[in-house]
Amino acid sequence: LNITLLAGGVGGAKAAEGLAASHYAKGTKIIGNIADDDEFHGLWVSPDIDTLMYSLGDQIDRQQGWGRKNETYQVLKELAALGQDTWMTLGDLDLATHIYRTHLKKQGVSASEITRRLSKRHDVSVPILLPTDDVVQTRVKTPQGWMSFQQYFVREHCQADVVEIEYKGIEEATATSEALEQIANSQLIVIAPSNPIVSIGAILAVPEIQAAIEKSQAYVIAISPLIGGKTVKGPADKMLEAAGKSIDSKGIYQCYSRFLNALVIDGADGQDALWLEDQGLDVLVTPTLMNTTQEKTRLLTQVVEFAMSRQ
Ligand code: GDP
Ligand code: CA
Repeated sequence: LNITLLAGGVGGAKAAEGLAASHYAKGTKIIGNIADDDEFHGLWVSPDIDTLMYSLGDQIDRQQGWGRKNETYQVLKELAALGQDTWMTLGDLDLATHIYRTHLKKQGVSASEITRRLSKRHDVSVPILLPTDDVVQTRVKTPQGWMSFQQYFVREHCQADVVEIEYKGIEEATATSEALEQIANSQLIVIAPSNPIVSIGAILAVPEIQAAIEKSQAYVIAISPLIGGKTVKGPADKMLEAAGKSIDSKGIYQCYSRFLNALVIDGADGQDALWLEDQGLDVLVTPTLMNTTQEKTRLLTQVVEFAMSRQ
C-alpha cells in the first residue's frame, strides 16, 4: 500500500510517527513543509522538516515537541552576549544541523538531497520528500504590518491578529519530481492534523502539487487539527478566520474540499458529522488527541483501515 502523508511540524510529526510505527510504514512517504524556513545568524533553518526528522529519529525534545533532546545553549548565549537577536531558540546540537544544511546549500546541493543526508544520520526510515527545492516563505500580515512567519510565530508568540497570509516565491516554485511521482503512485493520501493554512496550505500552494493531488486516483483523508472547535496548540484558528473559513470541521473541510474524500474528526466535534456527510464526505469520528506513541499508532492505523474500507 502506497501512502503519502502531507505533514507540517508538531501535528505533522505526530501523524508521521503513528504511520512509522504502524504496519503501513513500509509503503509510506512524507511530504513536508518548507515555507517556515528562514535564515538566522547566516544559517538556513527548516523548522518543520527538522521537527519531522528529529521526531522520527527519536532525537526530539518530547516535552516541547520541537528541538533536540539533551540540548544545550552555549552558542546562543554567546551570540546574545555579542548583541545578536536570539528570540529564535537554536540549541548547540540543532545548530550543527543548520551549519551542515547551509554549507551544503552553498555547494549547490538541493534541499531534498540535504534532507536525505540528514535523515540518514538520524536513522529516519520513512522518506521525507520536499514539495519544492525552491525557496518559499510564508509571510504574515498583522495590524502592525507584514512579518516573516517565524517573527510572528516565535518572536510575537502568535499574539497579533492575522489579516493576511502570503507565500513569497510560490509562483516561481516548481514541485520536486519525487513529490509528484509519489502523489501519482499513491493509493492513499493522508493529511496530518497540521495547520491547514501555513503548513498544509503552503505545500498545496506549490502549483503542481495541488494539481497532482486533484488528478491522482488516491483516496484523500484528512485528520482535523481542531478538537472541540479549538486548536490543540498554535494559531490555526486565527489563520482560518483570516482565510474566511469557520473555525470548526466545516472550515477544515473547506480548505481541502477540491479533492477530499474523508475527514477524521474528534468525538468532541461529532455534531459536525451530519453536515460533512451531506457534502458527500466519509466521516470518521474518533479520539484524535495524540500524546503517546500508542495513541499515534492507534489513530493512524484506524485512519488507514477506514480509508481502505471505503475505497
Ligand atoms: P507546526 O508546524 O509545529 O505548527 O505544526 P503543524 O502545522 O504540523 O500542526 C499544528 C496543528 O496541530 C495545530 O493546529 C494543532 O491543533 C494540531 N495538533 C497538535 N497536536 C494534535 C493532536 O494530538 N491531535 C490533533 N487532532 N491535532 C493536533
Ligand atoms: Ca511549522
